[in-house]
Amino acid sequence: PEPADLEALQHTDVAARLPFPGAESDKYRRGVVGIAAGSARYPGAAVLAVAGALRGGAGAVRYVGPAADAVIARFPETLVSDTGPSKAGRVQAWVVGPGAGDDASAVAEVLDADVPVLVDADGLRLADREAVRARTAPTLMTPHAGEAAALLGVAREAVEEARLASVRELAGLYGATVLLKGATTLVAGPTGGAVRVNATGTAWLATAGSGDVLSGLAGSLLASGLSALDAGSVAAYLHGLAGRFAADGAPAGAHDVAAAIPEAWRDTL
Ligand code: AMP
Ligand code: MG
Repeated sequence: PEPADLEALQHTDVAARLPFPGAESDKYRRGVVGIAAGSARYPGAAVLAVAGALRGGAGAVRYVGPAADAVIARFPETLVSDTGPSKAGRVQAWVVGPGAGDDASAVAEVLDADVPVLVDADGLRLADREAVRARTAPTLMTPHAGEAAALLGVAREAVEEARLASVRELAGLYGATVLLKGATTLVAGPTGGAVRVNATGTAWLATAGSGDVLSGLAGSLLASGLSALDAGSVAAYLHGLAGRFAADGAPAGAHDVAAAIPEAWRDTL
């Protein structure tokens, strides 16, 4: 690729973008992030997305879905609603999809909301492309290579061999910002321009639930007011660094990665 096609996110770029509450701030001004994730089969995905979201700068995390008991047991500060996303109350950005199973209605409701939306995991398969294209608020999609391949209708290897072209093609197809996960992470905006590259991670991040933590973290940054491109690339940077801190020479679980986000954040200042 031409050098101008790719832009490595530097430590100072990330530091300049991290949200901080002003002296007059309150939890609503800091932003409420809504998490529509988890299912009876995958309650842990909801817990991990909330774990990431609590460390991403939003003033409150609101959870909607069937894993509310598991979420509250682990994180009592979470606001839970027993409604669908559209009736859940104030939310400045949504995360939909991690462990969601086949709940297409939650995805459709979230895509209808006029706030930034992050779509991950099962949500990627359930999201109607025209509904995404019709959105006026930003959309951030966060596939790994397999999910990106399914959306493009190609084999996983085809994405792995042409990651830059694939992330750009997906962004164009959906009119969305697309974050393609992997050993390095690429983030492409919907209207072209340089693709952001992040390489702060470690192969220890290839562990179950790792992506769910990233989704919550990026959603929280969206709720704090970052653009989709900034939220995605800053989240990838912090998540990679947190992975290094959590798995310093030994494997760690995804919940350990979430717990290391504050250390990554401080290290980035
Ligand atoms: P998911 O596949 O949705 O659980 O997401 C996996 C997360 O781990 C993403 O943030 C990936 O970028 C990261 N990851 C997976 N494999 C590697 C690797 N070999 N090196 C660095 N990061 C990785
Ligand atoms: Mg995933």
